Amino acid sequence: METLLVLAHVQDDGALSAADLETLGAAVGLAGALGAPLTVGLMGKAVQAAADSIATCGAQAFLAVEGEDFATARYATDVAAVEALARKSGATLVLAPATSRFARALPGVAVRLDGRIETHVCALTPAEGTLKIQRWYYRQRMQATLDRAQRPWLLTLDRGVFAPWSGSPGTAAVEKVEVAPPACRTQVVGYETPDADAQTIRPDAKLLFVAGAGWTRKQADGQTHVPEAEKLIRDFLDLTRASLGSSKSLVDQSSESGAVISFLSHFNQVGQTGATPRHPKGLATCCHGEEPHTVGWRFIGERRAINLDANCGWAIGKADVLYVADAFQVMARVNELLK
Ligand SMILES: Cc1cc2nc3c(=O)[nH]c(=O)nc-3n(C[C@H](O)[C@H](O)[C@H](O)COP(=O)(O)OP(=O)(O)OC[C@H]3O[C@@H](n4cnc5c(N)ncnc54)[C@H](O)[C@@H]3O)c2cc1C
Repeated sequence: METLLVLAHVQDDGALSAADLETLGAAVGLAGALGAPLTVGLMGKAVQAAADSIATCGAQAFLAVEGEDFATARYATDVAAVEALARKSGATLVLAPATSRFARALPGVAVRLDGRIETHVCALTPAEGTLKIQRWYYRQRMQATLDRAQRPWLLTLDRGVFAPWSGSPGTAAVEKVEVAPPACRTQVVGYETPDADAQTIRPDAKLLFVAGAGWTRKQADGQTHVPEAEKLIRDFLDLTRASLGSSKSLVDQSSESGAVISFLSHFNQVGQTGATPRHPKGLATCCHGEEPHTVGWRFIGERRAINLDANCGWAIGKADVLYVADAFQVMARVNELLK
C-alpha cells in the first residue's frame, strides 16, 4: 500500500502559501482515492501556526523540521530537512509544490533516498491502489501519462492545476524531527525584491495582458508612439493588477536596439521559447497571434485579442473574441472607463 507525505515550507509570516495549499488539496484527494495514510511535513522557523491552519485536513501525522536554519531557501538545509521528513514518514509518495525552493532541493533528496522524481506534474490519477501521473513535454505540445515501480517517488506539482485545500483550523499535534544543520557555505542575509509596481509578472492575477510588437510599430500617422504605448500599458496594469506578458518580437527589440517598452524583459515572454502562464483570462494587444506565441496560451481560460488585422492569427481559431480595432484607441478608452 502507498503512504503519502505532503511537504510545505512555512512562509516568513508563519502561514502557508497558495502553492502549498494546492498541493495539500491534491494530496488529500489522492490519499482518499488510494485509501492511503497521509503525513504532512512542514519546514520553517516556527511551524505550529501553519500546522494548526490545516489541522483538519485529515492527515494522520504532522512532522516538522523547525528552526532558524530551516527558515530560508538553501540547498544544503532544504535537502537535509526533506530527507529527514521522508525517512521519518516512510512515505512511498512524496508530494511538494513546484516552487523554486523544492524544485532545487528535491532531485537531490531523490538521489539520497534511492528514489525517483517527476517534476511539473499536472494530474494525479489513482489506478489500482497505486498512481499514474501526467506531465507535459515539448512546451505543452505532448502530454505523457507515467507510472513507476521505484519508491519513494517524489513529485513536484505545478501551480494553478489543483484546487487549494480549504477547511477550518484546529490544533495539530506536531512531532518535531531533529536534524543537525549540515555544514553550510551559503548564508542567507535577506531578500531584495523589486518595488510592487516594477514587478509585472503576477502569477495569481485573474488576467494576463499581452503586449505585442505592434505597440512599437509605425501607426496610421507614419510615426511610432512608444511613450504613449508605455503609458497606456502601465496605466492598465496599475488599474487592473493584471500580469504582463509579451511576444518574443517585442522583448527581442531591446537586444536589436529597436524602440522598446522599458519595463518588459525576456521574463515576460509567453510562448514556445517563453512561459506558459495560467490565468483565467487573457487579452492580447498588438500581437499577431502566431503559433509559437499562442502555444504559450494553452492554459489561459478565455482569450481575447485586439488587432488591426482581421486576418491575424487570433482570427483563425486562437482567440474566443477578436476586436478588429486600434489598440491605442481601445486601451485609452478602457483605462478611462476603469478610472
Ligand atoms: C523556434 C521559434 C520559437 C519562437 N518562440 C516564441 C515565443 O516563445 N513567443 C513569441 O511570442 N514568439 C515566438 N516566436 C516568434 C513568433 O513566431 C512571432 O514572430 C512573434 O510572436 C511575433 O510577435 P508579434 O505578434 O508581437 O509581432 P508582429 O508579428 O510584428 O505583429 C504585430 C501585430 O501588431 C498589430 N498592430 C500594429 N499596430 C496595431 C494597433 N495600433 N492596434 C492593434 N494591432 C496593431 C499588427 O496588425 C500585427 O498583427 C518563435 C519563433 C520561432 C521560430
